[in-house]
Amino acid sequence: MAKLHLITYGCQMNEYDSERVAGLLRAQRYELVADERDADLIIVNTCAIREKAEDKVFSKLGELRLLKTLNPELVIGVMGCMAQLHQEAIQRRAPGVDLVFGSPAIARVGDLVDRARRERRPVLETGEGPLVKITARPPGSSRLRAFVTVMEGCEKHCTFCVVPRTRGRERSHAPETILAEIRSLVGEGCREVTLLGQTVNAYGRDLTPPTDLAELFARVNDVAGLERIRFTTSNPYNLTPRLIAALRDVPKVCEWFHLPLQSGSDAVLERMNRGYTRARYLELVDTIRDAVPDMAFSTDLIVGFPGETEADFARTLDVVEQVRYDNVFVFRYSRRPGTPAADMADQVPDEVKASRNTRLLEVVNRVTAERHRRLAGRTLEVLVDGTSRKSAGELSGRTRCNRVVNFDGQGRVAVGDLTWVRVTEALPHSLRGELARRAEEAACLSK
Ligand code: SF4
Repeated sequence: MAKLHLITYGCQMNEYDSERVAGLLRAQRYELVADERDADLIIVNTCAIREKAEDKVFSKLGELRLLKTLNPELVIGVMGCMAQLHQEAIQRRAPGVDLVFGSPAIARVGDLVDRARRERRPVLETGEGPLVKITARPPGSSRLRAFVTVMEGCEKHCTFCVVPRTRGRERSHAPETILAEIRSLVGEGCREVTLLGQTVNAYGRDLTPPTDLAELFARVNDVAGLERIRFTTSNPYNLTPRLIAALRDVPKVCEWFHLPLQSGSDAVLERMNRGYTRARYLELVDTIRDAVPDMAFSTDLIVGFPGETEADFARTLDVVEQVRYDNVFVFRYSRRPGTPAADMADQVPDEVKASRNTRLLEVVNRVTAERHRRLAGRTLEVLVDGTSRKSAGELSGRTRCNRVVNFDGQGRVAVGDLTWVRVTEALPHSLRGELARRAEEAACLSK
């Protein structure tokens, strides 16, 4: 078999795309290798969200070019957001690259690699292609939990984001196709799926007849053998009462909601073109908590967006205190050429961004630690997914609210089981617990 090495930068969507590429190339008789020096084909899956990410890719491509001098048959491919946005720069700055393709062309990766080998000249494939559901996965990829793409693209046009240009317009996969993929995953041992889309809660409105994520939840819930449903990423703008009701009513949907806020200031949200206000966001959080009191929220926040004042920043801090997130991803604003925000006046100096980043993290760490501590003493459902990283004698799993729990259960429960664990200690990054006794378990089930 030929040897494939994959290098992935960026987000979960990229991780997932790399997995699909590995699965597709497996059918072309490529096996994954861990060491790039052993490879006949290296594909770099790129991220364009920050300038630093792009610099990293160009530096890596420079290193790979050296490998090509040792092995002239080596084929080097670049995929992902940079491929879509900067194909010319890639050709100019990284002449060793043989193949550049965007995410719409993933389904044809096998043909593209063949062409690059055959034609011995760079192959570029960065236009929009037909929507194809790719279900191929490499052997050995985790079967217990799986990502399932339910839609591609985004049409929101947030002023800081390159995604609408790199992944194209919103296109949903048909529910039947998604369900078939999930049934097949469950047949291979999968117990938890994460439904993926750039704006997953806009799912289905482009289909004929239109449908929505609430309806999809209900149908996925009926898949026998599947235990948990997660979904990401949502945009507050598309959050409907129907979806909130589904969060409450569909039993397998977990109490974990990633709801990006980006900024707590209306002035900044407007410049970001996010389509909601701070008050609307807080109202949504309240409505969801009324429906599902145990809901854990996570979010994305950007500090130092152009024009962000101290007062704007203070409003972001204030929302973190009010919502009491379980997890927060903080990003310093980074200028992306070609996005409207890159040309906005009043770019915030780096030292101000750094200081706000530190101050925000202090608040985030305090708030998330408090949220974490609330779980001590509670008995929670855990999906056992392996042994503890720190102690091989212990098992590890995740709660429905997406917390890692380590506990002593060897010989009594196994990987893939759903069990009940009483949390004995909330450590900064994980929970410790013990298997619950029957009475506690029964008490939880009767709630
Ligand atoms: S909704 Fe998300 S993916 Fe779409 S433009 Fe905004 S930030 Fe980018």
